[in-house]
Order: sequence, then C-alpha cells, then structure tokens
Amino acid sequence: MAFKLPPLPYPETALEPHISARTLQFHHGKHHKKYIDTLNQLIEGTAFAGQSLEDIILATADDLSQQKIFNNAAQTWNHSFFWQCLSPDGGGRPDGALMDRIQADFGSFDKFRQDFSTAAQGQFGSGWAWLTEDGGRLKIMTTGNAGLPLTHGETALLTCDVWEHAYYLDYQNDRAKFVDTFLSELANWKFAQHQPEGAAAGKEPRRAQQRGQIAARMGAAAQRSEKKTSQQQG
Ligand code: ZN
Repeated sequence: MAFKLPPLPYPETALEPHISARTLQFHHGKHHKKYIDTLNQLIEGTAFAGQSLEDIILATADDLSQQKIFNNAAQTWNHSFFWQCLSPDGGGRPDGALMDRIQADFGSFDKFRQDFSTAAQGQFGSGWAWLTEDGGRLKIMTTGNAGLPLTHGETALLTCDVWEHAYYLDYQNDRAKFVDTFLSELANWKFAQHQPEGAAAGKEPRRAQQRGQIAARMGAAAQRSEKKTSQQQG
C-alpha cells in the first residue's frame, strides 16, 4: 500500500489571513505531496514497502545509506502532524490539564511562549520547533531538516514548521512574525492536549521499544563500520 497525501483538516482558505490559500496550495499540494510521492518511489519493491511510516523512520534514522528514505518518510510524518497543529480557532492559551502541565514544567505560559519563539527563531536553516513530552515532562526541542521527536524517544504534542516554504509567500524572510502568528492565532491546543493523554494511555512501552530499536540499530551500524575498518586493514 503506497502512502497517500492526507487531505487538509480544513479548507485551504480557512487559515487566512495568517496563512494564505496560496501557501497551503504549495505547502500541502506540492511540498508535502512531493515527499510522499518520492517516498513511495524509493520504497517500492524494498523491505520497507508495506511497513508503517513510524517503522520506516526508525529503521532509517542515523543511517547515511538510507538518508533519502528517512528524509522523505520523516517529512511525510512531520507535515501530516503539522496540519493538525493548525486551526482557524487556534492560538491563545490551552486550558485544563495541558495548561497546568505547561505552568508546572516551564514556570508560566508566557515563559513557555518566549522559550518556544526563541527556539523556533534560533533553529539555523530549515527545521521544526516542537513541544514534546519526555518521560512525563514537557520540553521544547528543535530539529534540523526532517528531524523529529520520535527518533529521540519523545512524543510530539505540537509543532511549527520553520522551513522557509512554510512562510515565505506570506511573511517573506520574517520567521519571527510567522512564529508569533502561529502562537497567537493558529496553534491547535485542542489537538495538542490529546497527545499527552495518548502517551499516558500506553505509549510508554512503545517508546521504550523504540529506544531499544534505535540502540540496537546504532550498535549494528557500529559493527558494520568496524567490519569495514577491519576489511580495509586486512
Ligand atoms: Zn513544510
């Protein structure tokens, strides 16, 4: 089964004036689609065909020989997640348990907001800013290019795409303004607050398993490079 471009969870005009229909047409209809089409081409006829996106991502992370597959699989996942993180009714502050957790782990919502903005603006080049959950604690992380929390054993709650293709048509090079608008007007806290519940409801063993898989794979990669070194020496 080839991967398919998921439809946007809202009409293309729904996020205007903050994100234009034109940006979504390119970002969703061209960029996201291209990652999925490329991924499908790359995995056709390989052992990855038929595997879940998460399994492909975990199996190819940190493996330079599989970097193309990783990049396209991770960008497929990241964008599907990102569309859910935007809402015409978004922005402002979360309520309920998620607000309590943000206040507990960052000191205040304003401090979280400041730290998230600084991280998103400070990500050099293309990448992503994330609110994640790691062992019951909320954290902010950034990843370069196609990177994502999954390969760090963390659960994504919310993300902001800071690739220029996410904002250039509407904001040109003003990433700070785009990130500020994301937080003020678009961030889908209702979606984010369902993510830690998922984590609490049994994702922990899966994360532990993922950590195990990553450790095993890194061990295998180390063995491969040792073997290569000994072959070169022999
Ligand atoms: Zn993007």
